[in-house]
Amino acid sequence: MQNLTILGATGSIGASTLKVVAENPSLFTIHALVGGKNVQKMAELCIRWQPKFAVLNEEVDARRLQQQLPLGCKTEVLFGQDAMCAVSASPKVDLVMAAIVGAAGLLPTLAAVKAGKRVLLANKEALVMSGQLFMDAVSESGAELLPVDSEHNAIFQCLPAHIQTSLGHCQLAEAGINHILLTGSGGPFRYTDVSELASVTPAQAIAHPNWSMGPKISVDSATMMNKGLEFIEARWLFNTSREQLKVIIHPQSVIHSMVQYNDGSVIAQMGLPDMATPIAYSMSYPGRIPAGVEPLDFTKLSELTFLEPDYSRYPCLALAIEACFEGQHATTAINAANEIAVEAFLTEKIRFTDISAVNERVMSKVCSANEFKQLDNLESILELDRMARNYALEIVRSI
Ligand code: NDP
Repeated sequence: MQNLTILGATGSIGASTLKVVAENPSLFTIHALVGGKNVQKMAELCIRWQPKFAVLNEEVDARRLQQQLPLGCKTEVLFGQDAMCAVSASPKVDLVMAAIVGAAGLLPTLAAVKAGKRVLLANKEALVMSGQLFMDAVSESGAELLPVDSEHNAIFQCLPAHIQTSLGHCQLAEAGINHILLTGSGGPFRYTDVSELASVTPAQAIAHPNWSMGPKISVDSATMMNKGLEFIEARWLFNTSREQLKVIIHPQSVIHSMVQYNDGSVIAQMGLPDMATPIAYSMSYPGRIPAGVEPLDFTKLSELTFLEPDYSRYPCLALAIEACFEGQHATTAINAANEIAVEAFLTEKIRFTDISAVNERVMSKVCSANEFKQLDNLESILELDRMARNYALEIVRSI
C-alpha cells in the first residue's frame, strides 16, 4: 500500500488520479486531498475517499467544508499553505501528486521534494518558475521525480533507464540521443484565420479538440504557451541544449512525444489522449498498472500528421522559448504574466491576442533590468513573481 497526497484534488488531474486509485484499490490509500476553494467538490471527495486530511486555501472555506461533512467522517479539515506543505512532507506519505495549477503549487510541491518523496509532477509552472533551484532540491533530498505531463511522461518512457534515474543532470548525447521531439496538437485555433484570433471567446478557447483539462491549461494550449512552458519544463528535466529540443505539431495527439537517437531510430510513446495513462505510469513506475483507459485501436486511426509550428499564429510559444534561453528571471516573469493574462482573458477583460502582448511587455521589462538576473533563492524568485504579476495587472488595466 502506497500512501498518497493529492495536491489539486478538486481539479482535472486530481480526478484522473482518483480514477487510477479506483482502478487499483489494493495499491493506494489517500492520506490527504488538497484543493483551492471548491468546497462542494472537496466535500464529495471526502465522503467518497475518507482521507485523513482535507486542506483548502482559506479558513472560511475550510469551515464551510467542515459543516458539510457528515457526523462520523474521520477527515480532519485544515487550511492554508503551511498545512498543504505539511501533508506533502508528512513521513506517512509515499507519493505526492503535484497538480495545483500555477505558481500556487510551488511551495507544497517543493515541500514534497525536500522531504524526499516520490513526486508526480503535473504542476509544470513550479519548474518554470524555479528550474535550477527545484532540480537542485531534487538532487539534494534524493526525491524521485516522475513527470506527469503527457509529453514529458512520454519522453521519459522513451529514454534509457540510466537517464530516467538522473533527471536534471542527465547527458543525452552520451546516451546516443540526438534530440527530443516535443509534440503539441496546435489547440482549437490551428486552422482559424490569424486575423480572427482577436475575437475568439473564452468558451471557444477552452474547447480543446483532443484533451479534457482545466481552464488555465486549456487557454495555454490554445495560445501554445502550454508548449512553451513544457519546453522550459523539458529543458530542466532532461538537461537539454537548444539543439536537443524541438517542437512539432501533431494534430491527432496520438503520439505524445518522441526521442530521436543517433542511429536514426525514433522511439515514440502512443496512446489515447487520457491523462490517466501517464498518471498510472508515474504511480507504478517501473511497473505498470491498469489505468482504466481503452487500448489504442490502430485500425481506427485514419492518419498521423506533423507540421512545423507557425510562430506568427503562436507568439506565446516563441516568447517562452526565448525566455528559456534568456534565463530564470525571464521564465519566472513570463509564467507570472501569463497567469494574470489568462485569468483576464477568461474573465473577458482582455482579448485572446492580448495574452501574448501582456507576456511580451512583462518579459521585456524584466529582461532589460539587471537587478533580476541573480535569482538564486526562493525569496528572490517569489519577489520577482510578485513584481511581474503587478506589472501584468497594470498592463491589463490599461488595455
Ligand atoms: P484544474 O483547474 O482542473 O485544477 C486546478 C487545481 O488546483 C484545483 O484542485 C484547484 O482547486 C487547485 N488550486 C488552485 N489554486 C489553488 C491554491 N491557491 N491552493 C490550493 N489549490 C489550488 O487544472 P488541471 O488539473 O487541468 O491542471 C493542474 C496542473 O496540472 C496545472 O499545472 C497544469 O498545467 C498541469 N497539467 C494538466 C494537464 C491536464 O490534462 N489537465 C496535463 C498536464 C499538466 P479548486 O478548484 O478547489 O479551487
